[in-house]
Amino acid sequence: MVLPHRLSRRLRSARTWIALGILAPIGMLIVSGLMLIDMRRDAWSMAEQTSKNLLQVIERDIARNVEIIDLTLKAVVDNLKAPGVTEATPELRQLILFDRASTARDLGVMLVLDENGDSIIDASAVPPRKLNNADRDYFKAHKANPKLGLHISRPLVSRLTGSRIVVLSRRIDKPDGSFGGIVLGSLKLSYFAGLFDQIGLGKDGAINLYLADGTRLMRHPYVEDDIGVNLAGTPNFDRFLRERSGAFVGTSVRDGVERHYAFRNVGEWPLSLNVALSTREIEAAWGAKALVISTIVLALCGLTVFLSLLYGRDLRRRAALQAELAELSRTDVLTGLPNRRHFEEAFERVWLAACRTRQPLSLLVVDADHFKRYNDRYGHAVGDEVLKGLANCLSASVHRPDDLVARVGGEEFVILLPGTDREGALRIAGKLHAAIASLAVPSAGICAGAVTVSVGVAVAVAVGPADAASPNDLYRKADAALYAAKEGGRNQTRCAPGAPEDTGAVIALRLVRA
Ligand code: GH3
Ligand code: MG
Ligand code: MG
Repeated sequence: MVLPHRLSRRLRSARTWIALGILAPIGMLIVSGLMLIDMRRDAWSMAEQTSKNLLQVIERDIARNVEIIDLTLKAVVDNLKAPGVTEATPELRQLILFDRASTARDLGVMLVLDENGDSIIDASAVPPRKLNNADRDYFKAHKANPKLGLHISRPLVSRLTGSRIVVLSRRIDKPDGSFGGIVLGSLKLSYFAGLFDQIGLGKDGAINLYLADGTRLMRHPYVEDDIGVNLAGTPNFDRFLRERSGAFVGTSVRDGVERHYAFRNVGEWPLSLNVALSTREIEAAWGAKALVISTIVLALCGLTVFLSLLYGRDLRRRAALQAELAELSRTDVLTGLPNRRHFEEAFERVWLAACRTRQPLSLLVVDADHFKRYNDRYGHAVGDEVLKGLANCLSASVHRPDDLVARVGGEEFVILLPGTDREGALRIAGKLHAAIASLAVPSAGICAGAVTVSVGVAVAVAVGPADAASPNDLYRKADAALYAAKEGGRNQTRCAPGAPEDTGAVIALRLVRA
């Protein structure tokens, strides 16, 4: 029972609603923030997985084609050593040396060049098409290095077909180990272009194939000027070369676009392949969703805060209104003094405090003399003016913050004086008579000295815990004293008669300890 009561009290507090109105949106913001972070992570892992899969598929295709060409080249080198091959007719030699692989769609030409660079065997023509490639870099490289193995050239324009190609070549040794020429097979660049073009990677996505020396063999999307460009020494390419396979986010030196690079070496060949997705595009779909979600969440948070503040303000206003009404219900409308209800509450409180502190407590009951006559003679409105004047005189007679002046009846007032003994109370009564003596209502022709009051004083002193007494006892005593003052001719103060054991003039009321 205690908890629901407390809870319902809390829920009526403006502060609770303002706190809830701020805490709830903070909770909402945290939850949606975590959700957005999670969605972003999903977008990234999806992109990473896609790049990885694409990379694997493309790499396998290229590696297989390079391997097929290399196997053919190796077969030519080996078969040229077989007895009788050199002596065979050109047609027969062509059949022995080149298998069907040499006619594959993406293969350009397949030739054997002698040590001078002249074509001596051509997979596609008998007699061989006339050509000298002694000036080509790959020819010079094989000539200079017997251990070069498979050499993959930079992009070239074929002298026989005019198409853009890369040349894969192997050295042919003479029986004595000296340079005997090369066998070469060319792979059309269109092969790579065709392979890469099947893949959609967004507007800023790219696929790149590099030679180990940094030369770009192919880029998707295809731009003529990109082919053959050397990127050796750039941070991204250094990383491809150093790590051989992996993934990272880097900025392209080509266009300054930030991309996620998934890269790997193609088989064991001196080729590096990468699939690069623009980070902006990876996050684009997420960003659009995040924008919508954050806008809605922020709007809801704003609305919650706004409504809570509004509700809090309403509750505060209501509380202030209630306090004002409560204050009004305890105030006398005519004089602005505390009314009887206020006095009774305060009397109870002050009484208990006096019991606790054993301080004297004085009560003055003040009644206007023959007040009825003012009403009868001057009218009710003037009577009201006199009452207001009396209220002012009463208020002016007390100075301590704990002193209380109240209007408890028509022309009856009280003055409650905590911590004040009989002498003090009589002093206040004297001041009061003096103040009232100068009270006048000139507009009604009531001059100073015309209005008088009678005062009954009672003083309580806590003397022991045994005797029971109540605030009412004190009031009755003061009232009796007032009656005595009236009886005695009015315009005077009378003290309540003291208890038998009271030696002084103080009315000793035995008080109960609270
Ligand atoms: P006494 O000296 O014996 O006290 O005589 P009194 O005429 O003052 O006493 P009584 O109780 O006979 O009359 C009180 C009068 O106070 C009656 C009423 O007309 C007047 N009175 C009470 N409340 C108000 C008020 O709010 N305004 C005005 N103008 N008069 C009031
Ligand atoms: Mg009266
Ligand atoms: Mg009176």
